[in-house]
Amino acid sequence: MSIRRELFAGEVLYRQGDPSDCAWLVESGQVELVSVHGRRTTRHGLLGAGELLGELGLIDGAPRSATATARSDCRLLAIERAQFLERLQSGDPILRTLVDSLLQRIRGLVATLPAETALPSEDVACDDPTERSGIDKIRLEAQLRDALDAGTLEVRYQPIYDIAARRVAGYEALVRWALEGRGPVSPAEFIQLAEETSLIVPVGEYVLDRVVAVLQALRDGGAEPLPSIAVNLSARQLVEPGMARQIVARAERNRLPPGALKLEVTESRMLDYAPVAAVMAHCREHGLPFALDDFGTGYSNLTHLHALDFEYIKVDQAFARHMFDSPRAMKMVEAIVAMAHALEAKVICEGVETREQLARLRELGVEYAQGYLIGQAAPTGAVLSGEAARAGEAAAGA
Ligand code: C2E
Ligand code: CA
Ligand code: CA
Repeated sequence: MSIRRELFAGEVLYRQGDPSDCAWLVESGQVELVSVHGRRTTRHGLLGAGELLGELGLIDGAPRSATATARSDCRLLAIERAQFLERLQSGDPILRTLVDSLLQRIRGLVATLPAETALPSEDVACDDPTERSGIDKIRLEAQLRDALDAGTLEVRYQPIYDIAARRVAGYEALVRWALEGRGPVSPAEFIQLAEETSLIVPVGEYVLDRVVAVLQALRDGGAEPLPSIAVNLSARQLVEPGMARQIVARAERNRLPPGALKLEVTESRMLDYAPVAAVMAHCREHGLPFALDDFGTGYSNLTHLHALDFEYIKVDQAFARHMFDSPRAMKMVEAIVAMAHALEAKVICEGVETREQLARLRELGVEYAQGYLIGQAAPTGAVLSGEAARAGEAAAGA
């Protein structure tokens, strides 16, 4: 949970010599830093919106080197030690060594200075664009924590169409975040941010909670057959200790039938296949099938298919997009379908936007289609009422 503090002009945020328990980001107002050495008082200047204070002590644990006092009414956001350390530890080891050595050098220098020497402020005004984007990230991360606590992330459901049966067979859960004053933030942006820290774990649990609740409501409402819902998981989430067991336990506790909950592996850096394979085997034994997401682009490659077992392969939307303008793309879709079928996996083609594409996929023996033709991600209500499925089936031209 993120901590915000509001101070009146004149209030002290922390005092010189206090332990460094967190750093602060100024959201509004101005804070002055003043240090006292012997009889000499040094004013380090005012910090305003978007500036950081107290970050050095956060990294090396040294006490506060100055007193921070609000000079106008202020709003500040705390940055916990873990937020910094997690990033430092996951960073390049060379960079880590550099940061350590720089810090030691600064602290060492300060220790050798005569008591009266003015200390440079540890907190610098920030107009470097890369540092700016770091501060934006810190802010975004805190806002994401708030959204999780307040329950304001929305989960939407994009229909997945069974081409042969001509019906909507399931949905993919896609998370949406409407940020006050900024509008909707693309999951492409904030999922990556969440993945850089352990925030991806609570985000995943949040989505899973919503999805299980929707599946239960559909089942209690007598939906027959019960549509399936696929949840996106990054490799990081998948191998998070206890995660797989927890997903399985949740499916069992709610007595979801096998196959109702599906897992899409979206990521990327599956460096070590052994733990991923073990987790997948555990989930599969308990009726949770896997799809390999975005196949054919980025990190979603043949090595994954060779090392791991997937029930479904999702062909990246780039292929559907270029099916008709590039004969090579068409050939590649044919080849991917043949390969998937040889591996006994079913194919879901993403990004289907026209009936022409759908007709061609039917000829190729692709099992499922997903895309704006069938429908965009719909709110829970439209899934529960069956409206999202009916609209999708009508648009596909059953
Ligand atoms: P994805 O899993 O590949 O999801 C499909 C994305 O393509 C979605 O974007 C969807 O809105 C978009 N899309 C679907 N059909 C069409 C189409 O016909 N045409 C076009 N142009 N686009 C289409 P979205 O919702 O912005 O999601 C972006 C990515 O964020 C997802 O890519 C997924 O990797 C990730 N994501 C979303 N929700 C979650 C989540 O709960 N957990 C995790 N770990 N990742 C998530
Ligand atoms: Ca996906
Ligand atoms: Ca995808």
